[in-house]
Amino acid sequence: MQRPDAVRLITFDLDDTLWPVAPVIVRAEHRMRDYLDTHAPEVNRRLDRDDFTRIREELLAREPGLANEISALRHRVVEAALGECGYANVAELAAGAFAAFLDARHDIAYFEDALDTLAHLSRSFILGALSNGNADVGRLGLDRYFTFHFSAEQVGRRKPHPAMFERALQEAGVSAGAAVHVGDHVDDDIRGAHAVGMATVWVNRSGSAWGESDIRPTWEIRDLAELNALFP
Ligand SMILES: [Mg+2]
Repeated sequence: MQRPDAVRLITFDLDDTLWPVAPVIVRAEHRMRDYLDTHAPEVNRRLDRDDFTRIREELLAREPGLANEISALRHRVVEAALGECGYANVAELAAGAFAAFLDARHDIAYFEDALDTLAHLSRSFILGALSNGNADVGRLGLDRYFTFHFSAEQVGRRKPHPAMFERALQEAGVSAGAAVHVGDHVDDDIRGAHAVGMATVWVNRSGSAWGESDIRPTWEIRDLAELNALFP
């Protein structure tokens, strides 16, 4: 096992690692529907959740690359929905609806221990964020702690693809052996980072079993404050 004093770079997953994401997405989708109710009411009148799923799948079948671009995908789904309902000013309405979604996407409640821990770690380590989601680190003010942030959209691949982790190592100029990735997701975070040779911290807030697996996380924690002891 890697000794903590060799670590120079710590990368973090965002959703469900620094804040719970499910309530954020539910609220953001409501805000988007609210926007459409006001500005393009036919959409909610004619299309239900299944229609949105169908539109999304049709788009992905035509353009598989959109799977790595969740903002673009969501935007395009709304555009297609507006088009199906006969609206002419599709681009403008979709932009408004997506802006409503993104506003709410950044209205988050951090886990209690998140910001203090980032502040502590940022004094001794290079911190980076690696997310498959579309939260904007700058908009959240997290660029106080994170030297860099890469989204799947920017890299063109989603975690657990090595490209995400390799991009972080390259940006920081740090070898995999001197880097740790912290995240909640067994595959996207732990397997992905392990595959490029990084140490891993599995944030397991619910106390789930790790399960049958050929690999194990380097460390397992229940809350982020435990990182302060791992990386003093
Ligand atoms: Mg996550």
